[in-house]
Amino acid sequence: MNRALCLPNNREWTAEEFSSLAPPRRDSLKRRLVCLDCGARAIFQSAGRRRRPVFRASHRKDCAVVAPAWGVFRFLQ
Ligand SMILES: [Zn+2]
Repeated sequence: MNRALCLPNNREWTAEEFSSLAPPRRDSLKRRLVCLDCGARAIFQSAGRRRRPVFRASHRKDCAVVAPAWGVFRFLQ
């Protein structure tokens, strides 16, 4: 997913914004990221050679962020 919520102040981040933070700040915030909809704990995955930065989470079944059709790929969203 491209967006996540950071809990202490309910700040919404896009993965691109989050990846541009200074590493110390990013480290202190990344343990508090959750999915915008279901509140599942989210992790940040920084950009790779051919990959944009993303957030990943183990969403709840009824989470609106993941379309039902994706099923087994839920964790990858
Ligand atoms: Zn979710």
